[in-house]
Amino acid sequence: MAHEVPKLPYDYDALEPHIDKETMQLHHDKHHQVYVDNLNNALKNHAELQAKPVEELLRYFKDLPAEIKTAVRNHGGGHANHSLFWEILKKDVPAEGDVVEAIKKKFGSMEKFKEDFTKAAMTQFGSGWAWLIVDDIGELQVINLPNQDSPLRQNWTPILGLDVWEHSYYKKYGPARASYVEAFWNVVNWEAVDEKFKAAKG
Ligand code: MN
Repeated sequence: MAHEVPKLPYDYDALEPHIDKETMQLHHDKHHQVYVDNLNNALKNHAELQAKPVEELLRYFKDLPAEIKTAVRNHGGGHANHSLFWEILKKDVPAEGDVVEAIKKKFGSMEKFKEDFTKAAMTQFGSGWAWLIVDDIGELQVINLPNQDSPLRQNWTPILGLDVWEHSYYKKYGPARASYVEAFWNVVNWEAVDEKFKAAKG
């Protein structure tokens, strides 16, 4: 059972003008595919691990054979992170649900949460992601992590993520990461984030 890039649950141009069609095509079809191919390649001599969901490989990372750890961290992480990213994007979804109430309680307001998340996205030097996670005691936290490091490796459950690798925004925004992060708030699928929040809280 080889890992596969999940089908995009909307058209490539569905997030225009905030995230452009050409970026979505390259990002989903080419970049994500590379992570999946490299993950499958790393697992080719580990039949027992091939059947496990990538999220499980990352959560139980410590138990993996040493020779595949780097590949799972980078490419398994890339596969899991991008799979989540496609799911949490959708245009014009109102910010509501249990997760929004929990965010307001934790951060004081949606504005303050967005400020913290934006700061996490802007201060991630070089490539990486900003995340809203549910931590190991069920608390919401905003963090950033470099490269394709998955929050799952720290036993945290990601429920919202923003890819700040240049491949995710450079074509439209050039070096203006701040404009891309600002535009992101127009395409957050709060329904999907709420579902992930509820699943993480059990
Ligand atoms: Mn990416």
